[in-house]
Amino acid sequence: MTYREDVEGLDASILMHPKVWEASGHIENFTDPMIDCKQCKARYRLDVLGDSMADKKKEKAIRELKESIKNNDTLLKKIDDKIASAGNDDPFTLLLEDSEISKLLLSQLNCPQCGNKGTFTDARKFNLMFKTFIGPVEDSSAVVYLRPETAQGIFVNFLNVQGASRQKLPFGIAQIGKAFRNEINTKNFLFRTREFEQMEMQFFVKAGEDKKWYDYWKAERLQWFKSLGMTPGKLRYHDHPADKLAHYAKEAVDIEYEFPFGWGEIEGIHNRTDFDLSRHEEFSGKSLKYFDDQSKEKFIPYIIETSAGASRSFMAFFVDAYYEEEVKGETRSVLKFHPKLAPVKAAIFPLVNKDGMPEIARKIETDLRKSFKVFYDDKGAVGRRYRRQDEAGTPFCITVDTQTLEDQTVTVRERDSMEQERVSVDQLSVYLLSKLHTS
Ligand code: ATP
Repeated sequence: MTYREDVEGLDASILMHPKVWEASGHIENFTDPMIDCKQCKARYRLDVLGDSMADKKKEKAIRELKESIKNNDTLLKKIDDKIASAGNDDPFTLLLEDSEISKLLLSQLNCPQCGNKGTFTDARKFNLMFKTFIGPVEDSSAVVYLRPETAQGIFVNFLNVQGASRQKLPFGIAQIGKAFRNEINTKNFLFRTREFEQMEMQFFVKAGEDKKWYDYWKAERLQWFKSLGMTPGKLRYHDHPADKLAHYAKEAVDIEYEFPFGWGEIEGIHNRTDFDLSRHEEFSGKSLKYFDDQSKEKFIPYIIETSAGASRSFMAFFVDAYYEEEVKGETRSVLKFHPKLAPVKAAIFPLVNKDGMPEIARKIETDLRKSFKVFYDDKGAVGRRYRRQDEAGTPFCITVDTQTLEDQTVTVRERDSMEQERVSVDQLSVYLLSKLHTS
């Protein structure tokens, strides 16, 4: 974001006026279908129930369902059509999401927790927003919500940011911050949590230019993941079919990553049209129109959204970066983080704790710390110190050795290739900067 002239940053409130969530459609639509087991009271999200079941069990349930309705040709055809059109989606989940078929299919299933068959309730809508109250009185007039996404804070602040920054269309507003969702089942480590970090950018454009910018951001965002080293073969687009679009979207695509547990969304790109600003204008009674000083017209811009989970994307980078390899008969574990993502950019070691080496190493550490996150380590053999940094994903290790005392150069060892080169102490900053920006 900070590399672009046409994107501004924002840090909006977590608690906003409840009308914001009415306008956005969250109070009405931000729901997940939920089912309960009447026997053991376990609760599941209908659309992800299939994730926790073996393929064989799902196929058996579909076979039994078809058997139970073998005289109903219309329904049988509907089931076969859904299975045939599934593509990358799980046909079992598609069937569960159909209100007519869902009930019948659920009656064929055993609860994954208690094992009983036919004990599921019908699917019910469950709103994912966390509620709390403003002030001492806990009544309906004091209800507020923890934001379930950062996007709405950007929409309601659109004109404040535009006026203060003097941006003209097209331009974007980006924000990183906490979002809260009362997820029915949290799972897979950082993939689904109730409190998570989002990084969203809303790009405001003229109507008619929305398709061009949607395609631009779709390509740009996939490239962003690749440019930071994510394995290209583990990334793919999942375009949303027209009949599955969210209430605000004209076009939508997910960028998915192949996690060890299967493909999952890491970012969504949406053409939100003029839906959001029009709704906030309507619910707040305040104009959110943009004044175009060339055409002298006032209008509501269209919005292209790029909505990524910072924590979920981090997890994708994390699993993508991890590998183990055999080096001189020992296993080394490495996080091959792109240098821009590595939490520590360089570690500094004195080869031995004498002969003035610690003093030189400490001086290098203090100088570099002004510009980079660095780590000082003088414990154990240098080989061990390398291994510890490999595990933490530190791309460069700098060692002060005997030669440093003679010619003021140090050994810089690169994490993945393990190659070493000598760099002059006074060039270290420039060396690290160039590595960060060119790799
Ligand atoms: P999902 O279908 O997985 O619930 P979503 O379609 O509801 O995700 P969006 O509302 O588009 O997700 O949110 C944008 C991004 O926020 C997602 O691509 C994901 O990276 C992240 N995200 C959403 N929900 C969670 C969560 N519960 N935990 C961690 N990250 C999340």
